[in-house]
Amino acid sequence: MLYRKMGKLDVEVSLLGFGAMRLPVDSEGNIDDAASIALMRKAVDSGINYIDTAFLYPKSEKLIGKALQDGYREKVYIADKFPLATLRSEEDKESIFNKQLERLGVECIDFYLVHNVNKPLWKRAQKYDIISFLDQKKKEGKIKYLGFSFHDDFDLFKEVVDIYDWDFCQIQLNYMDKNLQAGVKGLDYATDKGMGVIIMEPLKGGRLTQNIPPAVQEIWDNAEDQKTPAQWAFKWLVSNPKVSLILSGMSNEEQLEANLAIFSDPDTEVITEAQEELLETVAEKYRSLIKYSCTGCGYCLPCPQKIGIPTLLGYFNDWNAFDHPTSAKFEYTNWMPKHGSDCIECHACEDKCPQHLPIAQAMKEAAEAFGL
Ligand code: SF4
Ligand code: SF4
Repeated sequence: MLYRKMGKLDVEVSLLGFGAMRLPVDSEGNIDDAASIALMRKAVDSGINYIDTAFLYPKSEKLIGKALQDGYREKVYIADKFPLATLRSEEDKESIFNKQLERLGVECIDFYLVHNVNKPLWKRAQKYDIISFLDQKKKEGKIKYLGFSFHDDFDLFKEVVDIYDWDFCQIQLNYMDKNLQAGVKGLDYATDKGMGVIIMEPLKGGRLTQNIPPAVQEIWDNAEDQKTPAQWAFKWLVSNPKVSLILSGMSNEEQLEANLAIFSDPDTEVITEAQEELLETVAEKYRSLIKYSCTGCGYCLPCPQKIGIPTLLGYFNDWNAFDHPTSAKFEYTNWMPKHGSDCIECHACEDKCPQHLPIAQAMKEAAEAFGL
């Protein structure tokens, strides 16, 4: 296992972190407790020393608590997150945090993150002064290191980084999304301040490894170096020394073993110029398959129907470019409060779009493709 120092902290973490969001399930689709515990213990036995969970991940905190009994607790760092989405009152802060300690069966959480910072949730975080609350928990010894996970644009990222002396943060990054959300710019900005940076979505929610379109597969097949799409995606991240740790959600032993092989090979840390070019060619090919070239600028907002237009177009583009990945449909359906079918075709957004995209038409197509 490759290890790396977490920013300014005197902590060495495995470069691969265990994401405990989608734990193993049984034949009926229910989380399999025994298999989950066995998988997490195998990960720890294999050198992974960072397990990531959240209040909102089904059963995850409780099962981690069980997996880390019998001497495993001392071998790993636990990362958990405060759910801004659930926060509704002052009292919630204390009750949610205490619930997390109870579920995990610990007195202190090593890495604690404000979960899913974006514009609306950041307002809520400020309203309830969540940073002061968590800073106090850190002073009381109930949190060791404080950070945040992020899903919005670079300007907000900079604002959040600058507001507090964070230990670390967690951002979405992969070779397709260099300039999306915080992006490479965010990685540079945070590391310049000494923060550790954890990467999520290294495989773009599985889109870079599943349902590969024939035009992309042809590039992989003709490449001088033969590697799996996952090896390429991880290589691009691992070769950047600013990355502290990469999270991968693992749901079975096969995934764990494939990841362990990649993260134990020192070659993963090296990338040549030719290999960078190959990845850019693949990224370009994916982009050429994208139907609506939305830049995510957000000028079209607000929509009177409260549709998150750039996010929705992102899912719809992924749906077309990555050959209908189930993850895009799942995220569109479950993570978006409003959908293409909510569009009333007022066209107010289109006048404001610098790319002149036919947004109302795209909404109709997305509604047809995703079924709502
Ligand atoms: S056309 Fe649809 S997406 Fe655009 S602003 Fe109107 S309701 Fe919103
Ligand atoms: S204004 Fe156009 S390019 Fe910008 S986010 Fe909206 S749809 Fe995308």
